[in-house]
Amino acid sequence: MNLNALNHLTAHFENTEVMPLLFLGHGSPMNAIEDNTFTRGFKEVSNRIEKPRAILCVSAHWETRGTYITAMTKPPTIHDFGGFPAALYQVQYPAPGSPELAKETQALVDKTEIQLTDDWGLDHGAWSVIKHLYPDADVPVVEMSIDFTKSPQYHFELGQALAALRKKGVLIIGSGNLVHNLRMVAWDQLDTPGYAYDWAEEARTKMNDWILSGNHGPLIDYHHQGRAMQLAIPTPDHFLPLLYVLGLRTTRDDVSLFNDQPLGGSLSMTSVLFSSR
Ligand code: ZN
Repeated sequence: MNLNALNHLTAHFENTEVMPLLFLGHGSPMNAIEDNTFTRGFKEVSNRIEKPRAILCVSAHWETRGTYITAMTKPPTIHDFGGFPAALYQVQYPAPGSPELAKETQALVDKTEIQLTDDWGLDHGAWSVIKHLYPDADVPVVEMSIDFTKSPQYHFELGQALAALRKKGVLIIGSGNLVHNLRMVAWDQLDTPGYAYDWAEEARTKMNDWILSGNHGPLIDYHHQGRAMQLAIPTPDHFLPLLYVLGLRTTRDDVSLFNDQPLGGSLSMTSVLFSSR
């Protein structure tokens, strides 16, 4: 697409509403092919929001040194997991990319130099959930990586820097899990609804309260919020996508939780919709 066409596209979306924001608890890759409470939650939320021009997804499953953004026209579906049934490896999610959005994002951010790359695609943090929102794969998707060398505050501020995209029809999604301790999962309790360790419930409740009340300080400073939070977030990868979304939140956003359930003792599927009034 040439620059004129891009300007036209941008202008076309200039007058639309401020797009919502989503944090999606993606959970097991099997959610990609299952029909369950969580996948129905993803489907329902897509009915509550205007169909976007494009999606920018920050996925827990793409950690890099520096920040990258996918810039190819046809991002491959990456099956970045092991030990699952063959059916899961056969899933393709052929949403187009958007080199235009990748360049627009790169130009927007001066906090860091975002690098365009063809050397990735859509990992399961993106496709296993976006597939339920837009099953026809007719919304272009770009992914942005998480720079693992940076602080939580940095990720929050990088989210802030993306604010203009919300006014241009871009749906920004953070995909991770808020309570995510894989080492402590009670594998024999995965099918027991609501099964949670005390610390996991404490952390889920605290995070929900902070998210709902807009108290971002303790979420950015999650390292120092006690033992329950440390157990809930043993590594930052699945938590940091939330900080991008929080950075983008404004006082005009209403917030609602969905899929807000513990899972397997040490996980939660809590997802969040921010929608502008
Ligand atoms: Zn994951």
